[in-house]
Amino acid sequence: MSDKSIESITYPRPKWVKASVTSEEELCPDCFKVVGVKSRYTIVCALGKSVDGLTVTELTEKVGLRQPTITHHLNILRGVDAVSTVRQGREKLYSLNRNAHCFEECQIPY
Ligand SMILES: [Zn+2]
Repeated sequence: MSDKSIESITYPRPKWVKASVTSEEELCPDCFKVVGVKSRYTIVCALGKSVDGLTVTELTEKVGLRQPTITHHLNILRGVDAVSTVRQGREKLYSLNRNAHCFEECQIPY
């Protein structure tokens, strides 16, 4: 499905993402997917501050976006392995996958 050659493409770090300890200014495509949209990065930060994870309903309240928008962003984040889910009753609990390369290797702060 994915063409390996596109992995060499990098993207400039969006201005809402604070540079971490390294002066890394370029982001790989996966990381850019995580933070390239400001509201998506807001979701990442909300999840990062949560210890046990959040449901879509809780995210809707915290982030102030509509549920379909939150779900859309979460699906993209799951697609690059940045969040993981646990089923909790009728809802899913989303938590940040802190071991994802985006947060470890590329050092995206949250
Ligand atoms: Zn990356």
